[in-house]
Amino acid sequence: MLDETKSGMPCAEFDVLLTEALDNALKGERRERFEQHRLTCAACGTLFAEASSGLALLNELEEVAPPQSLVHNILAATSEAAQKSAKVAPQDSVWGGWDGRRRRCLRRC
Ligand SMILES: [Zn+2]
Repeated sequence: MLDETKSGMPCAEFDVLLTEALDNALKGERRERFEQHRLTCAACGTLFAEASSGLALLNELEEVAPPQSLVHNILAATSEAAQKSAKVAPQDSVWGGWDGRRRRCLRRC
């Protein structure tokens, strides 16, 4: 993007307002300045056209519901990973882990 000011608006400001414009939330004088810049700046005009067609393409996509087991599967996968890493550390320690210390203490006490 060029750092130019066309029709009283720098390209950086156009970039900031792009999302609002695509959502039709840009009104009044700000919309007029935005449109003037879009029509007079080739780089921003192309940016707007590409973003607009991309948004139209996304809006055409069918909404898909996630599988019912998605949350369960994520929790199961991440819990298993946490359990595996927790099991390795105590057994590999010099002292034989918590269970080894407990057994040694019970023998002495
Ligand atoms: Zn521009």
